[in-house]
Amino acid sequence: MSNPQRVFHGTGLGRVIVLNLKRGDLLLESVRDLLAREGVKNAALLSIVGSLQKLVYHRPLSFAPSAEDEFITVEKPMEIGMCSGMVINGQPHFHIVAADPQETHVGHLEEGTTVLYLAEIMLCEIEGLSIQRKLDANKTAYFEQM
Ligand SMILES: [Zn+2]
Repeated sequence: MSNPQRVFHGTGLGRVIVLNLKRGDLLLESVRDLLAREGVKNAALLSIVGSLQKLVYHRPLSFAPSAEDEFITVEKPMEIGMCSGMVINGQPHFHIVAADPQETHVGHLEEGTTVLYLAEIMLCEIEGLSIQRKLDANKTAYFEQM
C-alpha cells in the first residue's frame, strides 16, 4: 500500500531540453554538466537513444538489508534499448538496458559510460517540486520534502 508520506507533487512541466552527444562523449557526466549549466533541479528523463562503446553499471546481488551491489564494465558495441529515470534536486538517477551482440545488460547507470556513435537525450523539467534524496539506516535512498 502506498504511504501518503512518500507521495510528492510538482506543479507542472517546464522546459524540454534536448542533448545530442557524439562519439567518445561520457553519457552521465555530460548529463550532469548540462543539469548544472542549465540550472535544472528536477526533471523526467523522457528518452535516451543511441549506442555505446563502454557501459558501466551496477545491480544488486542479494536480498540483504543493505544492497550488495556488483559493479560491471562492458566494452563492446552496444545499442541502448531503454534508459529511464529522473533528476531530483539536480541529481540524475538513470537505469539502462543495453545490448551487445551477445548479451543484454540492465542496471543503474554509472560514470564512465561512453557513447559509440551518438546519443540523443530528452529531459522535461518538473516545476514546483522541492524534495531531496536521503539515505536510511540501510543506505537505501528515499525522498524527503526540503
Ligand atoms: Zn539505481
